[in-house]
Amino acid sequence: MTIRPVTILGEPVLHRRADEVTAFDAELQAIIADMYETMDAANGVGLAAPQIGIGLRIFTYKMENDDDVPERGVVVNPMITVGKISGNPPSTDDEVEGCLSVPGVDFPLKRAEWVRVRGFDAEGSPLDFEATGWFARCMQHEYDHLDGKLYVDRLNPRYSKKAKRVAKNLGWGVPNLTWMPGVDPDPFGH
Ligand SMILES: [Zn+2]
Repeated sequence: MTIRPVTILGEPVLHRRADEVTAFDAELQAIIADMYETMDAANGVGLAAPQIGIGLRIFTYKMENDDDVPERGVVVNPMITVGKISGNPPSTDDEVEGCLSVPGVDFPLKRAEWVRVRGFDAEGSPLDFEATGWFARCMQHEYDHLDGKLYVDRLNPRYSKKAKRVAKNLGWGVPNLTWMPGVDPDPFGH
């Protein structure tokens, strides 16, 4: 198992649709093991394969939930059904989202309170569960990564403008930028 560098906004693999996994083989197991290790080292609650530079439809997560879903897991080739998203402005208190690929910043974003996730586990057995609250947010965030979408692509105009300014100031938006969990300072101060 290896901790991998985390890709930053601008890396092309983060901005295109990831490919379906076609074989539940040793290679896939190795990728998943690296994803867990990298997620843990980065103190993340989720990690999608493009965040370690791999354009495949896989994400891992680690989050306690009220949905009777194991608090740590992997979903391969996920499909998601997303509940209604409120048109109200997002709360700056409890609807603030962050991403390991947009390190050190966070912005408020409305998400659906409910999703249904279907897909496969590491061995290729079917998964089908519902998620609510923050766990639903996590599922929406990680699923988006596999369609080449970052949460900053979903912000309302006000926060989108702020996010673009931050990215520009930090020199993001170009290829080959990464940070190394466990080596570089934790961007979210965990
Ligand atoms: Zn993310």
